[in-house]
Amino acid sequence: MSTLWLVATPIGNLGDLQPRAIEVLAAVDLVCCEDTRRTGQLLRHAGIRANRLAVCNEHTEYELIGELLDLLAAGSSVAVVSDAGSPGISDPGGRLVAAAVDAGHQVSAVPGPSAATMAVTISGLPSGRHVFEGFLPRKGRERAERIAELVDEPRTAVLYEAPHRLQRTLDDLRDACGPDRGVVVSRELTKLHEETVRGTLGAIAVGEPRGEYVLVLAGATAEVVASDAEAV
Ligand code: SAM
Repeated sequence: MSTLWLVATPIGNLGDLQPRAIEVLAAVDLVCCEDTRRTGQLLRHAGIRANRLAVCNEHTEYELIGELLDLLAAGSSVAVVSDAGSPGISDPGGRLVAAAVDAGHQVSAVPGPSAATMAVTISGLPSGRHVFEGFLPRKGRERAERIAELVDEPRTAVLYEAPHRLQRTLDDLRDACGPDRGVVVSRELTKLHEETVRGTLGAIAVGEPRGEYVLVLAGATAEVVASDAEAV
């Protein structure tokens, strides 16, 4: 049956590429990806040749909808991958899914790595109920409003951040939520320099920011899991 597949790919460690992801990527008629060179490398690593690659990013995703719907209507299948992790999570994919759903086509996934899921599950903070915040707006009122929403948020919150903005975001969160709020900062998950530091907004020391980061913020009512910063 023709299907739009959302295929998760490794967030660092290529060993996390799943057999079913390889199967689907080899079988579909079109692979929509953020960067053809990067996905090409992944496919070569997996020893497969995809039928065709198309660039799908914030600028081109909308333009791909027509072709996607034509292919699905003709009985073909299409896959969406991002540079790393699960497409649609702070990555392109959502518009294609919405268009396929609206047109009544089957949408499925090869689920797998996502930095958010890994970070919240290893954080030690309550993960049963959590909110995904993704990237905060970089500045202005929108940023202030989003941070203000976290002040009384009772659930653990998961945020993505670029290394050069990490300290500023930690400082802004500390100023809003107070120095005693628990926070866990994970970097380079599944990679050689993977590191997780646990502490409070007032005391956490993340050092020279290098690599990719996920911030897991304790809910407003959560106990601090480890009050002294500790690295694993
Ligand atoms: N779709 C991806 C996912 O499912 O995790 C997220 C893509 S988003 C554009 C990239 C951000 O995810 C990075 O800036 C970082 O915050 C986080 N990230 C991705 N890979 C990571 C890793 N290996 N370690 C820590 N954070 C990571």
